[in-house]
Amino acid sequence: MLSDTIAAVSTALGEGGIAIIRISGPEAIAQVAPLFRSRISLNDVESHTVHYGHIVSPDDGENIEEVLVTVMKAPRSFTTEDVVEISAHGGVISVRRVMDLLLQQDIRLAEPGEFTKRAFLNGRIDLSQAEAVIDLIRSKSDRAFSIALKQVSGSLSQRIHALRHSLIETLAHIEVNIDYPEHDVESVTSEFIKTKSREGMDGINKLLKTANEGKILREGITTAIIGRPNVGKSSLLNALARDNKAIVTDIPGTTRDVIEEYVTINNIPLKLLDTAGIRETMDVVEKIGVERSRAAFSEADLILLVLNANEPLHEDELALMEQISGRQVLVIMNKMDLPSRLDQDVLHRYFEAANIVPMSVIEEEGLDKLEDAISALFFGGKLESGDLTYVSNVRHIALLKKAHQSLQDAYEAAEMLVPIDMIQIDVRLAWEQLGEIVGDTAADSLLDQIFSQFCLGK
Ligand code: GDP
Ligand code: ZN
Repeated sequence: MLSDTIAAVSTALGEGGIAIIRISGPEAIAQVAPLFRSRISLNDVESHTVHYGHIVSPDDGENIEEVLVTVMKAPRSFTTEDVVEISAHGGVISVRRVMDLLLQQDIRLAEPGEFTKRAFLNGRIDLSQAEAVIDLIRSKSDRAFSIALKQVSGSLSQRIHALRHSLIETLAHIEVNIDYPEHDVESVTSEFIKTKSREGMDGINKLLKTANEGKILREGITTAIIGRPNVGKSSLLNALARDNKAIVTDIPGTTRDVIEEYVTINNIPLKLLDTAGIRETMDVVEKIGVERSRAAFSEADLILLVLNANEPLHEDELALMEQISGRQVLVIMNKMDLPSRLDQDVLHRYFEAANIVPMSVIEEEGLDKLEDAISALFFGGKLESGDLTYVSNVRHIALLKKAHQSLQDAYEAAEMLVPIDMIQIDVRLAWEQLGEIVGDTAADSLLDQIFSQFCLGK
């Protein structure tokens, strides 16, 4: 299966400065060589060198495109195979002409994710690393990018390997006891198994604890900005967007047309409810009434209730406060640059002081406090910047939970003094479930599913 040569355009399609066509396979260099006219034959170049020349039709020598060609020889390439990258002019026509020629050779079009899949199948990266490549492509904030990058480099894999290593030792220990009971080996006691499964569960719990934070950092905190007209909601949104490069992403997959707007406050990504929704939510009290406004922000993880500090509380605002009680709310007391006319006692009846953020959007005062308040709500304080190992992939989380359950079963069985050859089954199960995370024991259908999420050319 891996003996054929594949090619795809690796840069985004459309007009760009340059487009890169990537070719990988054992014959990649030999197959591109006849199409490349340069001072030196591609067959003779050193690995990791770049060459200027032209792509020409092998039939009539017609000049197709002016290119730079990079050669990376096995095993020092992304796929560990011979890889050729052709940098062409970034137009649709130019790219198609080169691709057409390549596909006339013994080269076929790569499937989405096939380059990464080869890197995995050839043992260069494991499954969790491959999945992190998907996250890298899709990440919407600097921090999400750093987390994915860390996972690509294998930080999660290392922890999973450590857990599995300890389990395999335990298994070996049990096995020796079962197979050679006559030998004078230290006998495996139920205490030993209990200790070992407890250790395993602790390690898994540590990873699971990062899951929620990881998900938030990866997908953003779904946020609704609400309040009466004229309190400063649009101004706040604009301030966030201006200072933090609002990213408008169209998320592929689920619903093609959903536009989500992201802003970040010091690298905490906020996913603002879709633009139409935001506008609607903003004027929610006036336009659609307090009752119906509930639906507009029911799906939010975080509600930013904006008040005007320069005015007494309005009855609509009291009604809103009733509605959102029990939710994650930060109250933004805006317009602090003006004289205060807002009854703070009432406010404190509904909200904790830590969740009330005085601010003047117009003077750009208080955005840092808002960030602190969000960190406190969602991350129990300051975000760690050093250790970026987060479990954020739902598949990984499900497997970690399963492995935890298996170890729990082993622990309880040991407590009930069940024979160790029975307990061994649970420990082995936990080992296999952890293995699925890094792809040691993953089925083909799962691999297909994972790699099909990639875009073409990765
Ligand atoms: P929205 O209706 O809640 O979206 O409110 P806007 O963002 O449109 O703001 C309403 C008015 O309040 C505008 O004239 C803003 O310039 C003004 N405004 C917003 N923030 C502040 C602030 O912090 N201080 C003062 N003095 N005015 C502000
Ligand atoms: Zn507005």
